[in-house]
Amino acid sequence: MRIARFSTPEGEPRYGVVEGEAGSEVLAEIEGDPLYRPIQFTGDRHPLAEVRLLAPVIPRSKIVGVGRNYADHAAEMGAQPPAEPILFIKPNTAVIGPNDGISYPPASAEVHYEGELAVVIGRICRDVPLDRTGEVIFGYTCGNDVTARDLQRRDGQWARAKGFDTFAPLGPWIETEFDPTDQGLTTSLNGTPRQHGRTKDLIFSVPHLINYISQAFTLLPGDVIFTGTPAGVGSMRPGDEVSVSIDGIGTLTNRVISRG
Ligand code: MG
Repeated sequence: MRIARFSTPEGEPRYGVVEGEAGSEVLAEIEGDPLYRPIQFTGDRHPLAEVRLLAPVIPRSKIVGVGRNYADHAAEMGAQPPAEPILFIKPNTAVIGPNDGISYPPASAEVHYEGELAVVIGRICRDVPLDRTGEVIFGYTCGNDVTARDLQRRDGQWARAKGFDTFAPLGPWIETEFDPTDQGLTTSLNGTPRQHGRTKDLIFSVPHLINYISQAFTLLPGDVIFTGTPAGVGSMRPGDEVSVSIDGIGTLTNRVISRG
């Protein structure tokens, strides 16, 4: 099931189940927030083309990022594959939705895209055993771990470089029936593919990450895990359009804008 968050010109954000084929999707509106109540349809239906999609979730407390979780990306950064997951936090104020602008901060001259599989947590949890991680996953979406590479190098730690407003695009919706074992991921810049990866090449798999992360942080419903990016990261400039596509989920597209 694909669950989207959306707004219409006359209303507050709502949720809907995405039905139909690409190009003719319809949102079947549901009552309330599906993280907190069973799916119940209102009966209202909206063609996708007539709504604005929003970030499918606003993390209640945090996005947990994972650094260098594909060997080919670690190599392009001049690093060895890590022996343990490298964790960092992106603030929930960085989240934007499909087609929202990635705001290029004046402090940076080197803003990179990082297409990633994003895991949405469905229930409060800590110390999740490896064989029970499936119970705490609500679904999956596409994420872009936008990074000011120059500031990442200069600062030494990653909070600012990965935490600017608009540096966590999410969408287009959450797929609740998705097997993360071996799916293709492609990031394109202005229509040209730049990153190709398969989730089977994650150094630390989704269950391993949830087990490891939940030993450090209590995870809340709506928290998100960015699982890492494959090789091919690169710079974006204002005016560029960046898309992250994952097989079985969909495509998240954003344009880079100058910060006014
Ligand atoms: Mg990343």
